[in-house]
Amino acid sequence: MDLPSTAAFIRGKAASPAEGIAGLREILAGSKRIVFFGGAGVSTASGIPDFRSADGLYGEAFRGLPPEMILSRSFFYLHPEIFFDFWRKHMVHPEAKPNAAHRYLYELEKQDRLRGIVTQNIDGLHRDAGNIRVYEIHGSVRENYCTECNAPYPLQAVLETEGIPRCECGGVIRPGVVLYGEPLEKYVCIGAIREITNADTLIVAGTSLSVEPAASFLSHFEGKHLAVINREPTPADEAASLVLRGDVAEVFSCLSAAG
Ligand code: NAD
Repeated sequence: MDLPSTAAFIRGKAASPAEGIAGLREILAGSKRIVFFGGAGVSTASGIPDFRSADGLYGEAFRGLPPEMILSRSFFYLHPEIFFDFWRKHMVHPEAKPNAAHRYLYELEKQDRLRGIVTQNIDGLHRDAGNIRVYEIHGSVRENYCTECNAPYPLQAVLETEGIPRCECGGVIRPGVVLYGEPLEKYVCIGAIREITNADTLIVAGTSLSVEPAASFLSHFEGKHLAVINREPTPADEAASLVLRGDVAEVFSCLSAAG
């Protein structure tokens, strides 16, 4: 399998896609403590739109409102009906399945070479692929809870209702995700940063690195190889030993095919 639409850079110098893939294979083969840091671009091949690509969710207003406003804490509490309308239509994808990138990472974890996945994604697809060492730093659409009594609810409680989903106690059931204006969960962050700090190789993929504090987690990496796989340039490219500018699912399919 070749990757005609992928550009490769090894230590800042342009290389062929084949050299780039060979370089990534070599890095992975020589690594014992790999950590993967990913974003929405990891799941676009599973049919879930990202935020900032040309066809991403941020390109279109919803009921005249920017999605980043709808996904904020204050908007959730002030206009829950609009929030849940947007949420069900655009943020929940129960039909999505793991793609080649998720599957490859599961194989790496089985070989005990992948120490952790730190993901900004809320879709749960890394867990569906079988990975256990997953740090969902922005939470998950699968985990919902009552804002009054904290009772946990599955995704169905949001999907199989209309309007504002309600708990038996009358409280609003909300998604267990981090909305804009909310802090990240402390212990998930501590675990994620610990894995990044101890990694010998960090793969950064499918993320614009424009959401904080997630993007700053990369500053804790002190290992040997930073590899970036993304369709567009990212702020991490300059420090990377290898950059593959292309489709993350295609890159991992290619790695699998190469054995
Ligand atoms: P982003 O939309 O800001 O950036 C996505 C990046 O991935 C872009 O640079 C884009 O060029 C790249 N990309 C898209 N598809 C790709 C592909 N197939 N191969 C390689 N690169 C690809 O997303 P982000 O950096 O993750 O940050 C935004 C926030 O989006 C996160 O906080 C996350 O919670 C949320 N989000 C999550 C999902 C999800 O769970 N699947 C979907 C949309 C948004």
